[in-house]
Amino acid sequence: MTSSGGAVGYGRWGNPSWTAFEEALGVLEGGHAIAFASGQAAIAALIEPLRVGAVVTLPADAYLGTRGLLSDLETHGRVRLRPVEVTDTGAVLAALASTELLWLESPTNPMLGVVELRPILAAPSRAGVTTVVDNTFATPMSQQPLAWGADAVVHSASKYIGGHSDLLLGAVITAEEDRRASLLAHRTLQGAIPGVMESYLALRGLRTLPLRFAQQQRTAQELAERLPGHPAVTSVRYPGLGSDPNHDRARAQMSGFGAIISFVVADAETADRLTGALELIVGGTSLGGVETTIDRRRRWPGEEAVPAGLLRPSVGLEHPEDLWEDLQHALSSSFNV
Ligand SMILES: *Cc1c(COP(=O)(O)O)cnc(C)c1O
Repeated sequence: MTSSGGAVGYGRWGNPSWTAFEEALGVLEGGHAIAFASGQAAIAALIEPLRVGAVVTLPADAYLGTRGLLSDLETHGRVRLRPVEVTDTGAVLAALASTELLWLESPTNPMLGVVELRPILAAPSRAGVTTVVDNTFATPMSQQPLAWGADAVVHSASKYIGGHSDLLLGAVITAEEDRRASLLAHRTLQGAIPGVMESYLALRGLRTLPLRFAQQQRTAQELAERLPGHPAVTSVRYPGLGSDPNHDRARAQMSGFGAIISFVVADAETADRLTGALELIVGGTSLGGVETTIDRRRRWPGEEAVPAGLLRPSVGLEHPEDLWEDLQHALSSSFNV
């Protein structure tokens, strides 16, 4: 040990495990990655530099944590929020003139609408507007918003990137050197640093992300095509379905359609009976793991706009026929009561 304390100097300033993960994720998204303790910490780091009174345009159905954090800041007079239906390209473009931060997510949660990221990020009126895309659902395997002009991409690496439902980690990726430097300074001073073990596990997860995500997308497509045929199902949203209202948009900008589906059954009771009857699929709100999880989104405060009987499966790596058998059995038993 030298008196200077080694190459890094102090544990909160840097770590080779963080760097290895950041380099790999940076290459995938086309920028420089900075890892944080969680997706929420990464989101907070992007919101922190806003001046007092800044207007933030965000999806009306943004991820609950993002909405919660921004609403809290609004309550304290820090920011002003302008929620928009982000699948309405005209509404997003119209909001740009008076916006400082545009927050986007695509596909949206849990309705799985597809936002026209390319034209929005390329719009002349977005000059001076900081644009962030939460790319957790799509992963860099299916879209890389920095290439279309986003200033930053944010991830909950707790989901697909880690991929095994066993860690919490977040990351911001940006191609702008000034932004990278200020995010790094923010991380060091706020202390929302990633764990070393989490970074190691997330790097290990990245090594199989292309294979996992490809298979999960194939299985999701298969299940999404079968679901509308069951009499208990009233509607299905999945961007990969030819009949989906946003299918053409998804084809134009994504190289895969993701592995999250949402479908609606009669009501909350039916949905809860269905979840209770599943034997292989796990009830739970997290997503992106090797096991298929399912969540009735309306049970969460803040999700009042979501249909009561909407279920959102995150498709894992089980055999597609095992998943269909489980779903079909639970659908039938929840329906024929
Ligand atoms: C889970 C999630 C987050 C928050 O990430 P954490 O790692 O749980 O802090 C942010 N955005 C999306 C889309 C998510 O699914």
